[in-house]
Parts: sequence; structure tokens; C-alpha cells
Amino acid sequence: MDFPTDLIQLLIKATRVSVLTGAGVSQESGLRTFRDSQSGLWAQYKPQDLASPAAFARDPKLIWDWYAWRREAIKGVRPNAGHYALAEMEKKISEFTLITQNVDGLHRMAGSNNLLELHGNILRVRCSVCGTFTEDWGDDSESVPLCGKCNGLLRPDVVWFGESLPRAELEAAVTASRACQVFFSIGTSGVVQPAAALAHAARNNGAVVVEINAEPTPLTPKVDFAFHGKSGEILPELVKAIWG
Ligand SMILES: [Zn+2]
Repeated sequence: MDFPTDLIQLLIKATRVSVLTGAGVSQESGLRTFRDSQSGLWAQYKPQDLASPAAFARDPKLIWDWYAWRREAIKGVRPNAGHYALAEMEKKISEFTLITQNVDGLHRMAGSNNLLELHGNILRVRCSVCGTFTEDWGDDSESVPLCGKCNGLLRPDVVWFGESLPRAELEAAVTASRACQVFFSIGTSGVVQPAAALAHAARNNGAVVVEINAEPTPLTPKVDFAFHGKSGEILPELVKAIWG
């Protein structure tokens, strides 16, 4: 694949790069989307009935079973070449921020460290009352696990329908988008907030915006460079073109 020389030159010199990834990156690893994973007995539920504070208040066990099922589905999934290429970029660029809308933990598994998980992480849980995080919740599948501190119900540490994004992560994402020289939007339609706002913030502050996605999106006409295809193929080639 041939990349424009000015983009390569820009990335060779860049010291501040921010990247936003969405569901498309996970799908290339074979992970099904939220809606696609609603097969079998889960097909009868609306997404809001499985992922909202009201649904959890109504039937916490149902929500736990749904997330246990999704965690099980993630177990066999591995990062793809695009995840690894982004982890490689982080090593080469002094200020590199990876912002993701994905909750599957694949970026961390691939070795990314400076990572902002805007929608949380499905492999982590927190107390629905006091907010304490835990990665060890003794899932006995018979009942909903309780917080060791306050006995409140534990819940998945993901952002549900009707909930705000975690404030610290969102603020850090906006700051990184405003400060970067190059902003990548990868595997995301660019219409869901805050994705659109982050690309916009980058552009308004003088960053060059690059899109990598399976197909054109509403963001495409507004970016400086757009590549349509698999991020798992384009990103490794881009890394190779820049750093050999
Ligand atoms: Zn608690």
C-alpha cells in the first residue's frame, strides 16, 4: 500500500499523536458487536434491557448472566495486527494517547499502556454503591457478587445506556485530542459522541486528521487522509512505512 509522502514525513517527525478506536477494530479480531452477540436466549431482549441502570435495578442477576456470557465470548478472542501496530506506535512516539470506545481489553492485551477506556472494561467490575473496583469477585454464578467493603451489588465497569462517560477519562481524551499533531479515527463511524467531538477538537487545534475504516463515514469529507479497508492490514503497513 502506498501512503502519501507528506503523511509519512509528518508522522516521522510527530511527537504528539492521539488515536481513537471503535468497534471495527474489535470486529476484525472476530469479536461480535453488542447487538450481534444477542443471539439465542438473549435475542428476546432490547439492548436497554441488558445494559442500563434501570435493568440492573430490576433484575441484577439477568444482567450478570448476560455479562458473564459476553466475557466468555471474549475469552477466545485475541488482538489483531492492528492492535499490535498501535502498541508499536506508542513505543515510537513520545506522547501517544490511545482512546478507545471498546470494552474488551484487547488493546491492553496487545501491549498498549497509555490507554483511555471511555466506555469502561468488561473484564473489570465495581461496586454499584460505593464505586470500589475489583478484579476478583468470586463469580459463583448462583447470585450477584457483593462488594467486600459495603456489601453493595457489584456491577460490570462499563458505561450503560443513559450513563455518562467516566469524567477523568473523557477530560484526558479531550486534552489529548486538542494537544496532538496527528489524530487517527479508526474503526468508528465518527457519528457517535464523543467520537465526533474528539476528531473535531483535534482538527480545530491544528491537528492533521486521519481516518481508517472499512467504509467511508460522515467524518470522511472532513479528514485530511482517509484509508478504507482493514485496520489490521493498513496500520502494520503504515508503521512499516514510517519506521521500517
Ligand atoms: Zn461498595
